[in-house]
Amino acid sequence: AKSAGGNRSELADPEADARAITRHGLTTALPTALERGEFFIEYQPLVHLGDGSVRGAEALVRWLHPQHGVLGPDRFIPLAEHTGLIVPLGRWVLEESIRQARAWRVRHGGQDAGPLRINVNLSPCQLSHPGLVQDTVDILERAGVTPDALCLEVTESALIGADDDLLKPLRRLAEMGVDIALDDFGTGYSNLANLRRLPVSVLKLDRSFTQGMQQFPADPVDLKIVEGIVTLAHSLDLAVTVEGVETGAQAEQLRVLGCDTAQGWYYARPGPPERLHDLALADAKG
Ligand code: C2E
Ligand code: CA
Ligand code: CA
Ligand code: CA
Repeated sequence: AKSAGGNRSELADPEADARAITRHGLTTALPTALERGEFFIEYQPLVHLGDGSVRGAEALVRWLHPQHGVLGPDRFIPLAEHTGLIVPLGRWVLEESIRQARAWRVRHGGQDAGPLRINVNLSPCQLSHPGLVQDTVDILERAGVTPDALCLEVTESALIGADDDLLKPLRRLAEMGVDIALDDFGTGYSNLANLRRLPVSVLKLDRSFTQGMQQFPADPVDLKIVEGIVTLAHSLDLAVTVEGVETGAQAEQLRVLGCDTAQGWYYARPGPPERLHDLALADAKG
């Protein structure tokens, strides 16, 4: 039922109502979920396009909800950001995945033998939280992992128009040797010249570009755009990672275009940490 003004009443829409209740329920359950250890992390390999070797993994958080089963991050990260729980949750993800990176390296035969690096997503709320740099330093030290094993992924939209206060912690982390990746690149409206001002060393090309390459040969305009981005990125000394690679044809076209690293279902879906170790090991044996 529509009111005279054309505004739909919340209560008159049972679906919206159910969504609101679930959202409310999830929001109130979030803090205890962290205390009860209901979150877990899946890892998705990052593969070098040139030689196909596994170079690292992105940590992707999930929530094993006692009633609703496994919930993806899109269901609860926005709520965690809204309530501020993202700060302790994000710290937990960082700690847990860095511990995992350490375990991979050890099982790989020592700190140097294991080339596996770990990518962790950072929400804008964590960026503006004053504890970020010290927390990261502490977590790395406790785990005995060097900063160069870590890459923090920040979305392009979080950094558009970012002032110096927001960039300062990222700069300090970058100076320590932590890589900063610009996630979902190409979806925002960032001024390409602006890239020079950001302390990033990796561009993660958004899945939408990869999708345009599902056909072979791909749309020539799509190819030109990706080629242009890769050329620009490399001229600024940035590595290019592509996400959402689902087919071998996509991987091959992206390799030819000069992209450095790829991630997607074609290689592996996100999975438990043991699987990544097995993949990397199989790889090392050739
Ligand atoms: P993202 O950072 O862009 O992560 C990539 C997403 O693409 C993941 O979804 C991944 O499972 C999915 N994906 C990977 N390969 C393919 C593919 O070949 N095809 C398709 N269609 N999808 C693919 P997921 O795990 O649902 O994560 C969604 C978003 O949630 C992430 O997007 C990231 O923004 C956020 N997120 C995940 N974990 C964390 C976290 O620990 N902290 C924060 N702040 N955000 C997180
Ligand atoms: Ca990411
Ligand atoms: Ca992304
Ligand atoms: Ca995305």
